[in-house]
Amino acid sequence: MSEVQTVEGPVDAGSLGVTLVHEHVRFRDEAVAAEWPDRYDERWELEAALQAVGDAKQRGVHTIVDPTAMFGGRDVHFMKAVAEQTGVRIVPCTGIYSYDFLPPYFANRDADAMAEHFVGDIERGIQGTEIRAAFLKCAADAAGVTENVEKIHRAVARASVQCGTPIMAHSMPAVATGPRQVEIFAEEGVDLARVQIAHCGDTADVSYIEGLIAQGVYVGLDRYGLELFLPIDKRNATAAELLRRGHAERLMISQDFCATIDWFPPEAEEAFASQGLIRNWSMTLVFDEVVPALREQGALDGSSFETVFVDNPRRWLSGS
Ligand SMILES: [Zn+2]
Repeated sequence: MSEVQTVEGPVDAGSLGVTLVHEHVRFRDEAVAAEWPDRYDERWELEAALQAVGDAKQRGVHTIVDPTAMFGGRDVHFMKAVAEQTGVRIVPCTGIYSYDFLPPYFANRDADAMAEHFVGDIERGIQGTEIRAAFLKCAADAAGVTENVEKIHRAVARASVQCGTPIMAHSMPAVATGPRQVEIFAEEGVDLARVQIAHCGDTADVSYIEGLIAQGVYVGLDRYGLELFLPIDKRNATAAELLRRGHAERLMISQDFCATIDWFPPEAEEAFASQGLIRNWSMTLVFDEVVPALREQGALDGSSFETVFVDNPRRWLSGS
Protein backbone atom coordinates (compact mmCIF):
# COMPACT_ATOMS: atom_id res chain seq x y z
CA MET A 1 0.00 0.00 0.00
CA SER A 2 1.14 3.55 -0.64
CA GLU A 3 2.65 5.91 1.89
CA VAL A 4 1.31 9.02 3.59
CA GLN A 5 3.64 11.77 4.80
CA THR A 6 3.45 12.69 8.49
CA VAL A 7 5.54 15.09 10.58
CA GLU A 8 7.49 12.01 11.73
CA GLY A 9 8.07 10.75 8.21
CA PRO A 10 6.17 8.56 5.77
CA VAL A 11 3.86 5.82 7.09
CA ASP A 12 1.97 3.02 5.41
CA ALA A 13 -1.45 4.35 4.39
CA GLY A 14 -3.04 1.22 5.80
CA SER A 15 -1.78 2.08 9.29
CA LEU A 16 -3.50 5.49 9.63
CA GLY A 17 -6.41 4.09 11.63
CA VAL A 18 -9.17 6.29 13.01
CA THR A 19 -8.45 9.74 11.61
CA LEU A 20 -9.70 13.23 12.41
CA VAL A 21 -9.36 14.88 9.05
CA HIS A 22 -9.52 18.56 10.03
CA GLU A 23 -8.03 19.81 13.32
CA HIS A 24 -5.41 22.42 14.15
CA VAL A 25 -2.85 21.83 16.91
CA ARG A 26 -2.21 25.59 16.86
CA PHE A 27 -3.57 28.44 14.79
CA ARG A 28 -1.98 31.88 14.79
CA ASP A 29 -0.77 34.61 12.53
CA GLU A 30 2.88 33.97 11.73
CA ALA A 31 3.62 37.65 11.06
CA VAL A 32 2.27 38.80 14.44
CA ALA A 33 3.97 35.87 16.17
CA ALA A 34 7.28 36.72 14.49
CA GLU A 35 7.07 40.44 15.33
CA TRP A 36 5.74 40.15 18.88
CA PRO A 37 6.83 36.71 20.11
CA ASP A 38 6.44 37.82 23.74
CA ARG A 39 2.67 38.00 23.17
CA TYR A 40 2.62 34.21 22.79
CA ASP A 41 3.28 31.58 25.43
CA GLU A 42 4.71 28.60 23.53
CA ARG A 43 4.64 26.36 26.58
CA TRP A 44 0.96 27.06 27.16
CA GLU A 45 0.25 26.51 23.45
CA LEU A 46 2.07 23.17 23.54
CA GLU A 47 0.24 22.09 26.69
CA ALA A 48 -3.12 22.93 25.09
CA ALA A 49 -2.21 20.98 21.95
CA LEU A 50 -1.01 17.96 23.97
CA GLN A 51 -4.23 18.03 25.98
CA ALA A 52 -6.49 18.23 22.92
CA VAL A 53 -4.64 15.58 20.93
CA GLY A 54 -4.25 13.37 24.01
CA ASP A 55 -8.02 13.54 24.60
CA ALA A 56 -8.64 12.53 20.97
CA LYS A 57 -6.21 9.63 21.36
CA GLN A 58 -8.25 8.40 24.33
CA ARG A 59 -11.25 8.19 21.97
CA GLY A 60 -9.24 5.95 19.64
CA VAL A 61 -7.80 8.53 17.25
CA HIS A 62 -4.52 7.40 15.64
CA THR A 63 -4.04 10.20 13.11
CA ILE A 64 -4.84 13.90 12.92
CA VAL A 65 -4.81 15.76 9.61
CA ASP A 66 -3.77 19.35 10.34
CA PRO A 67 -4.51 21.73 7.44
CA THR A 68 -2.61 24.68 8.93
CA ALA A 69 -1.00 26.46 5.98
CA MET A 70 0.54 29.87 5.30
CA PHE A 71 -1.30 32.56 7.36
CA GLY A 72 -2.25 29.95 9.96
CA GLY A 73 1.26 29.90 11.39
CA ARG A 74 2.20 26.48 10.04
CA ASP A 75 5.14 25.22 12.11
CA VAL A 76 6.21 21.62 11.50
CA HIS A 77 8.59 21.71 14.50
CA PHE A 78 5.64 22.43 16.80
CA MET A 79 3.51 19.79 15.08
CA LYS A 80 6.31 17.24 15.39
CA ALA A 81 6.67 17.93 19.11
CA VAL A 82 2.93 17.28 19.56
CA ALA A 83 3.10 14.06 17.54
CA GLU A 84 6.14 12.77 19.42
CA GLN A 85 4.73 13.54 22.84
CA THR A 86 1.26 12.11 22.20
CA GLY A 87 2.02 9.20 19.88
CA VAL A 88 -0.67 10.49 17.51
CA ARG A 89 0.37 10.91 13.90
CA ILE A 90 0.02 14.39 12.45
CA VAL A 91 -0.35 14.90 8.71
CA PRO A 92 0.91 18.31 7.47
CA CYS A 93 0.04 20.31 4.36
CA THR A 94 1.31 23.04 2.09
CA GLY A 95 -0.68 25.89 0.58
CA ILE A 96 -2.02 29.33 1.36
CA TYR A 97 -4.97 30.02 3.63
CA SER A 98 -6.23 33.36 2.39
CA TYR A 99 -9.75 34.67 1.72
CA ASP A 100 -8.24 37.20 -0.72
CA PHE A 101 -5.05 38.92 0.46
CA LEU A 102 -1.73 37.97 -1.05
CA PRO A 103 1.57 39.56 -0.06
CA PRO A 104 3.39 41.33 -2.91
CA TYR A 105 5.79 38.37 -3.00
CA PHE A 106 3.01 36.19 -4.42
CA ALA A 107 0.88 38.97 -5.94
CA ASN A 108 3.75 39.70 -8.33
CA ARG A 109 4.47 36.07 -9.20
CA ASP A 110 2.19 33.90 -11.30
CA ALA A 111 0.31 30.72 -10.36
CA ASP A 112 3.05 28.48 -11.74
CA ALA A 113 5.68 30.18 -9.57
CA MET A 114 3.39 29.80 -6.58
CA ALA A 115 2.83 26.12 -7.40
CA GLU A 116 6.59 25.59 -7.48
CA HIS A 117 6.76 26.61 -3.78
CA PHE A 118 4.10 24.01 -2.93
CA VAL A 119 5.93 21.35 -4.96
CA GLY A 120 9.10 22.06 -2.96
CA ASP A 121 7.20 21.34 0.26
CA ILE A 122 5.82 18.13 -1.23
CA GLU A 123 9.01 16.80 -2.81
CA ARG A 124 11.83 18.15 -0.63
CA GLY A 125 10.46 19.25 2.73
CA ILE A 126 8.87 22.05 4.73
CA GLN A 127 10.68 24.90 6.48
CA GLY A 128 14.15 23.45 6.02
CA THR A 129 13.19 20.02 7.34
CA GLU A 130 12.73 16.70 5.59
CA ILE A 131 9.07 16.72 6.65
CA ARG A 132 7.06 16.61 3.46
CA ALA A 133 3.56 17.93 2.82
CA ALA A 134 0.89 15.25 2.43
CA PHE A 135 -1.76 17.48 0.89
CA LEU A 136 -2.51 20.96 -0.45
CA LYS A 137 -4.68 23.62 1.17
CA CYS A 138 -6.54 26.61 -0.22
CA ALA A 139 -9.59 28.60 0.82
CA ALA A 140 -12.59 30.55 -0.40
CA ASP A 141 -14.80 32.39 2.07
CA ALA A 142 -17.33 35.26 2.19
CA ALA A 143 -15.54 37.25 -0.52
CA GLY A 144 -16.06 34.32 -2.89
CA VAL A 145 -13.57 33.12 -5.48
CA THR A 146 -11.71 36.39 -6.01
CA GLU A 147 -8.87 36.79 -8.50
CA ASN A 148 -6.29 36.04 -5.81
CA VAL A 149 -8.27 33.08 -4.47
CA GLU A 150 -8.54 31.68 -7.99
CA LYS A 151 -4.79 32.06 -8.44
CA ILE A 152 -4.12 30.10 -5.24
CA HIS A 153 -6.59 27.41 -6.36
CA ARG A 154 -4.88 27.11 -9.76
CA ALA A 155 -1.44 26.91 -8.11
CA VAL A 156 -2.69 24.24 -5.71
CA ALA A 157 -4.28 22.37 -8.62
CA ARG A 158 -1.09 22.46 -10.69
CA ALA A 159 0.99 21.13 -7.78
CA SER A 160 -1.62 18.41 -7.30
CA VAL A 161 -1.47 17.40 -10.97
CA GLN A 162 2.33 17.45 -10.95
CA CYS A 163 2.80 15.46 -7.72
CA GLY A 164 -0.46 13.47 -7.40
CA THR A 165 -1.07 15.20 -4.05
CA PRO A 166 -4.61 15.54 -2.65
CA ILE A 167 -6.32 18.87 -2.00
CA MET A 168 -8.39 20.27 0.85
CA ALA A 169 -10.30 23.45 0.03
CA HIS A 170 -11.93 25.55 2.77
CA SER A 171 -15.32 26.62 1.42
CA MET A 172 -18.28 28.75 2.45
CA PRO A 173 -21.66 27.22 1.63
CA ALA A 174 -23.48 30.46 2.59
CA VAL A 175 -22.08 32.03 -0.58
CA ALA A 176 -21.85 28.71 -2.47
CA THR A 177 -18.12 28.80 -3.20
CA GLY A 178 -17.87 25.01 -3.57
CA PRO A 179 -19.09 24.51 -7.15
CA ARG A 180 -16.71 27.18 -8.52
CA GLN A 181 -13.78 25.73 -6.53
CA VAL A 182 -14.47 22.28 -7.97
CA GLU A 183 -14.83 23.79 -11.45
CA ILE A 184 -11.34 25.33 -11.22
CA PHE A 185 -9.82 22.04 -10.09
CA ALA A 186 -11.57 20.24 -12.98
CA GLU A 187 -10.32 22.84 -15.48
CA GLU A 188 -6.77 22.23 -14.27
CA GLY A 189 -7.14 18.47 -14.69
CA VAL A 190 -7.12 17.54 -10.98
CA ASP A 191 -8.37 14.06 -10.04
CA LEU A 192 -11.57 15.10 -8.22
CA ALA A 193 -11.50 11.86 -6.20
CA ARG A 194 -8.52 13.42 -4.37
CA VAL A 195 -10.33 16.68 -3.54
CA GLN A 196 -12.02 17.46 -0.25
CA ILE A 197 -14.33 20.46 -0.02
CA ALA A 198 -14.21 21.45 3.64
CA HIS A 199 -16.99 23.01 5.73
CA CYS A 200 -19.92 21.73 3.64
CA GLY A 201 -21.53 20.84 6.97
CA ASP A 202 -22.05 24.55 7.62
CA THR A 203 -25.23 24.30 5.54
CA ALA A 204 -28.35 22.21 6.09
CA ASP A 205 -28.98 22.26 2.33
CA VAL A 206 -28.55 18.60 1.47
CA SER A 207 -29.04 19.15 -2.24
CA TYR A 208 -26.18 21.69 -2.35
CA ILE A 209 -23.91 19.10 -0.71
CA GLU A 210 -25.17 16.33 -3.01
CA GLY A 211 -24.36 18.55 -6.00
CA LEU A 212 -20.72 18.58 -4.87
CA ILE A 213 -20.67 14.85 -4.13
CA ALA A 214 -21.98 14.25 -7.67
CA GLN A 215 -18.71 15.81 -8.92
CA GLY A 216 -16.78 13.03 -7.18
CA VAL A 217 -15.24 15.05 -4.34
CA TYR A 218 -15.24 14.41 -0.61
CA VAL A 219 -17.26 16.80 1.52
CA GLY A 220 -16.30 17.91 5.03
CA LEU A 221 -18.90 17.88 7.80
CA ASP A 222 -16.05 19.20 9.82
CA ARG A 223 -17.00 22.10 12.06
CA TYR A 224 -18.86 20.36 14.88
CA GLY A 225 -18.97 22.69 17.87
CA LEU A 226 -18.97 25.89 15.81
CA GLU A 227 -22.63 26.64 16.50
CA LEU A 228 -22.35 30.11 14.94
CA PHE A 229 -22.26 28.53 11.48
CA LEU A 230 -24.77 25.72 12.22
CA PRO A 231 -25.92 24.11 15.47
CA ILE A 232 -25.09 20.48 16.19
CA ASP A 233 -28.66 19.15 15.78
CA LYS A 234 -28.88 20.55 12.26
CA ARG A 235 -25.37 19.28 11.45
CA ASN A 236 -26.41 15.81 12.64
CA ALA A 237 -29.66 15.90 10.65
CA THR A 238 -27.67 16.74 7.51
CA ALA A 239 -25.11 14.02 8.22
CA ALA A 240 -27.84 11.46 8.91
CA GLU A 241 -29.67 12.31 5.70
CA LEU A 242 -26.47 12.07 3.62
CA LEU A 243 -25.67 8.71 5.24
CA ARG A 244 -29.21 7.45 4.56
CA ARG A 245 -28.86 8.49 0.94
CA GLY A 246 -25.77 6.28 0.67
CA HIS A 247 -23.01 8.89 0.68
CA ALA A 248 -20.88 7.44 3.51
CA GLU A 249 -17.98 7.02 1.09
CA ARG A 250 -17.83 10.77 0.44
CA LEU A 251 -18.15 12.17 3.98
CA MET A 252 -15.43 13.49 6.29
CA ILE A 253 -16.45 14.24 9.89
CA SER A 254 -14.28 16.48 12.09
CA GLN A 255 -14.37 19.61 14.27
CA ASP A 256 -11.92 22.18 12.84
CA PHE A 257 -10.85 22.60 16.46
CA CYS A 258 -7.90 24.85 17.19
CA ALA A 259 -6.09 23.83 20.39
CA THR A 260 -5.16 27.52 20.57
CA ILE A 261 -6.06 30.35 18.21
CA ASP A 262 -4.91 33.98 18.35
CA TRP A 263 -7.78 35.49 16.35
CA PHE A 264 -9.50 36.86 19.43
CA PRO A 265 -8.40 38.16 22.84
CA PRO A 266 -8.33 35.45 25.53
CA GLU A 267 -11.59 36.58 27.18
CA ALA A 268 -13.52 36.11 23.91
CA GLU A 269 -13.73 32.31 24.12
CA GLU A 270 -15.82 32.47 27.28
CA ALA A 271 -18.05 35.13 25.74
CA PHE A 272 -18.54 33.00 22.60
CA ALA A 273 -19.47 30.02 24.76
CA SER A 274 -21.92 32.01 26.89
CA GLN A 275 -23.50 33.45 23.73
CA GLY A 276 -23.86 29.93 22.31
CA LEU A 277 -21.60 30.65 19.32
CA ILE A 278 -19.46 27.65 20.25
CA ARG A 279 -20.48 24.64 22.33
CA ASN A 280 -18.20 21.81 23.52
CA TRP A 281 -15.87 22.66 20.63
CA SER A 282 -12.98 20.21 21.08
CA MET A 283 -11.12 17.34 19.42
CA THR A 284 -13.51 14.83 21.02
CA LEU A 285 -16.99 16.26 20.35
CA VAL A 286 -17.68 14.00 17.36
CA PHE A 287 -16.96 10.91 19.48
CA ASP A 288 -18.74 12.17 22.58
CA GLU A 289 -21.93 13.46 20.94
CA VAL A 290 -22.06 13.09 17.17
CA VAL A 291 -21.29 9.40 16.65
CA PRO A 292 -23.66 8.35 19.49
CA ALA A 293 -26.46 10.56 18.06
CA LEU A 294 -26.01 9.22 14.52
CA ARG A 295 -25.97 5.63 15.85
CA GLU A 296 -29.13 6.27 17.83
CA GLN A 297 -30.84 7.58 14.70
CA GLY A 298 -29.79 4.41 12.89
CA ALA A 299 -27.76 6.47 10.40
CA LEU A 300 -24.33 5.14 11.39
CA ASP A 301 -23.16 1.62 12.21
CA GLY A 302 -19.76 0.01 12.77
CA SER A 303 -19.14 -0.39 9.08
CA SER A 304 -20.05 3.15 8.04
CA PHE A 305 -18.05 4.49 11.01
CA GLU A 306 -15.03 2.67 9.57
CA THR A 307 -15.78 4.12 6.13
CA VAL A 308 -15.98 7.72 7.38
CA PHE A 309 -13.19 7.74 9.96
CA VAL A 310 -10.69 5.23 8.50
CA ASP A 311 -11.26 4.47 4.82
CA ASN A 312 -12.17 7.94 3.50
CA PRO A 313 -9.18 9.78 5.02
CA ARG A 314 -6.89 6.99 3.81
CA ARG A 315 -8.33 6.98 0.28
CA TRP A 316 -8.25 10.77 0.03
CA LEU A 317 -4.64 10.96 1.27
CA SER A 318 -3.18 7.95 -0.52
CA GLY A 319 -5.50 7.34 -3.46
CA SER A 320 -5.96 3.71 -2.37
ZN1 LIG B 1 -9.50 24.62 9.56
